[in-house]
Amino acid sequence: MKLEIKDLHVDVEGVEILKGISLTFESGKVQALMGPNGSGKSTLAQAIMGHPKYKITQGQIILDGKEITHEKADVRARAGLFLSFQYPVEIPGVTIGSFLRTAVNLRREKPHSVMEFHALLKQKMQDLRMDPSFTRRYLNDGFSGGEKKRTEILQLLLLQPHFAFLDETDSGLDIDSIKIVAEGINQVRKKNNMGIVLITHYNRFLEYIRPDHVSILSKGEIVASGGAELAEQIEREGFERVVTA
Ligand code: ADP
Ligand code: MG
Repeated sequence: MKLEIKDLHVDVEGVEILKGISLTFESGKVQALMGPNGSGKSTLAQAIMGHPKYKITQGQIILDGKEITHEKADVRARAGLFLSFQYPVEIPGVTIGSFLRTAVNLRREKPHSVMEFHALLKQKMQDLRMDPSFTRRYLNDGFSGGEKKRTEILQLLLLQPHFAFLDETDSGLDIDSIKIVAEGINQVRKKNNMGIVLITHYNRFLEYIRPDHVSILSKGEIVASGGAELAEQIEREGFERVVTA
């Protein structure tokens, strides 16, 4: 399966932020999207997901041969696109377990029963080495950075989207959490043939998840693309040299 972005122009509050982005994402591949702060990485992810604030003024988004440029966000989510942190930061009164079951069942024709879902959840949580009591806690209420990120990956393992955009999933994680999160990502990539788009500043994360492609964004345009070695070059030389070269 392919997700094609063709000459995408995006405005935020009347200002053009993305100035003609063309990229192709493929199932089973990891694509890293890097670039200095404010270069438009999150804008690209939001525009692809259909956030109403990010207005597509030109270009196309094509998923599996079907144009979805102007579809609503929920249609895109059901078609298999996923962006990390799609939910509000804290929802007091909603437990992780019930939130995840609702999110997963929204995407299924035949909803999981409570028991079925719990068996599935238990297994995925073991994979991420999460404490089973975690499911009874309220969503993100007093979670540490690492717990929030693991919840994000848990959601990914359960939802099994076709394409997942992980926006700075590695920021604020210690090295052990990075390894576990990376392991989770590598697992879904292989098992479910998921396409993964890693938005990241750091090559450190990419040491554990080797990207198939790396694209560098600067001021709303793709300024360089290559393989994993491009991420290594940025680690050594910084964005400046690559961006101005
Ligand atoms: P990155 O994720 O690469 O750091 P962003 O996509 O967040 O970059 O931001 C790109 C530019 O778009 C910045 O100049 C930012 O100020 C602007 N921008 C992004 N989102 C919004 C928004 N919701 N409202 C106003 N400006 C925004
Ligand atoms: Mg960002």
